[in-house]
Amino acid sequence: RRNSAGVDLADPTVRGPLLADLDRLEKREWDENVEAGSAREVRSPQDRRKVLGHVHDATEAEIDDMFARALAAQPAWDAMGGLKRAALLDKAADLFEQHTNEFISLCQREAGKTAIDGILEVREAVDFLRYYACEARMLFGAPQPMPGPTGEENLLRLHGRGVFVTISPWNFPLAIFTGPAAAALAAGNTVIAKPAEQTPLIAALATHLCHEAGIPEDVFHLAPGDGKVGAMLTSDTRLSGVAFTGSSATAHAINRNLAAREGAIATLVAETGGQNAMIVDSSALPEQVTRDVMASAFQSAGQRCSALRVLYLQDDIADSMLEMIRGAFEALVIGDPADLATDVGPVIDDEAKEKLEAHIAEMKAKGNTVWQRELPPYCDHGSFVPPTIIEVDSISELEEEHFGPVLHVARFPAARLAETVDEINAVGFGLTLGLHSRIDAVRRLVESRARVGNLYVNRNQIGAVVGSQPFGGEGLSGTGPKAGGPHYVSRFATERVTTVDTTAAG
Ligand code: NAD
Repeated sequence: RRNSAGVDLADPTVRGPLLADLDRLEKREWDENVEAGSAREVRSPQDRRKVLGHVHDATEAEIDDMFARALAAQPAWDAMGGLKRAALLDKAADLFEQHTNEFISLCQREAGKTAIDGILEVREAVDFLRYYACEARMLFGAPQPMPGPTGEENLLRLHGRGVFVTISPWNFPLAIFTGPAAAALAAGNTVIAKPAEQTPLIAALATHLCHEAGIPEDVFHLAPGDGKVGAMLTSDTRLSGVAFTGSSATAHAINRNLAAREGAIATLVAETGGQNAMIVDSSALPEQVTRDVMASAFQSAGQRCSALRVLYLQDDIADSMLEMIRGAFEALVIGDPADLATDVGPVIDDEAKEKLEAHIAEMKAKGNTVWQRELPPYCDHGSFVPPTIIEVDSISELEEEHFGPVLHVARFPAARLAETVDEINAVGFGLTLGLHSRIDAVRRLVESRARVGNLYVNRNQIGAVVGSQPFGGEGLSGTGPKAGGPHYVSRFATERVTTVDTTAAG
């Protein structure tokens, strides 16, 4: 049997080493930086009774100390140059790879990720480290000569801005904890990184490995904690920039905090939520659509910023398409993320579960047609939400992003394709859009009209491969530039130009 990502579950080279490592790690206890009486309990989403470890939230005094040390360390880190910084980031990537199984185990137990999601998570974190290392070599090495008149020399150099605060979400607890921090470090900044409160253990392991790779402790700091710690960090006048990934509401709060700091101006790189649609017309291949809808809506239990939320089916194929999709939906394997056969694991915590359940209940109360899977007994003690499909009239019925295994389906007449794209644009998010069509004119229309950062044609819409699929949205979905793309690192850098009158040389 193969799981939804195409991995052969009978292959001993997949199963053997992975499970052996997971058994070993099951016995390990995680206690990071704990002081008596001040620890935050980290619990497993698939079994809330299990305490995985304890983490101590950063205090005001510790944050003050981190800023002082990060500020003092920045000039030397910047002066070290791109080549040497790149070597350290590459070394960190090597160590991440060597700890792949440990990370997968933590992703499963702390974030409820399936093995496949865990593997992709490590892959992406490693890719970010190597990609930004490469950028450090190319952009932060020798100064770039600029053209000018005879007798004048102009040299442009890139430098770090200072201290960057990076704030990351729980849904990519390793990749997005690592990516923005790696970009900031590559550019010559020192970094204070705040992981999500739900997933500090993964971040702690990543930080240990960065230090082991030789990135000095004063250059890269870990500040665990919740939104209060995030607010403390982003209120400090000593920071030069913030790289935030999370919800649009939190991005607004951070923006307000930054603006309130008298006498200090900072860069904000924000990557936020989405309300992502997929448009399927009558020329699409039904088997392919079914496979891609399942992956886009239900992989990672729908907890991807790029995940499909509203599927628009052309009305004359809607019934037959929905029947096929419901067939695949009934076959989803729900349960233990450590089981390689599992397609859909838990959502991150009970708060997320309750929000999703309230949304589903509201849609049922309004009379929308709802299909829902039964949860198996395994799910009794975890934060599981049954995969759900809900019929809606349009995307505008949804007031917010519903971050879980819930797919909404709407219908559109072929003659209203352009209006459908406008309807999706009008929501104000602009992260991903899927399109299944084999008609070139349809593709051209959607491509030219859709205001989204990433358009996926005739495939699932969950790709963000570093270096080839730069990822990020516009509007309420973020500021850009795209993570894993050629312009991202430049937001973490400042440019300095030296102009010399060479005729005056002695
Ligand atoms: P969230 O906004 O609740 O939290 C994100 C981070 O911000 C956490 O570390 C949290 O502790 C911190 N935070 C909360 N309040 C804060 C405040 N007032 N000041 C500073 N920091 C604060 O988001 P989440 O629930 O962790 O993550 C899910 C969201 O992230 C979804 O909206 C998803 O679409 C989005 N996301 C976007 C991308 C992207 O690339 N565009 C990628 C992944 C996730």
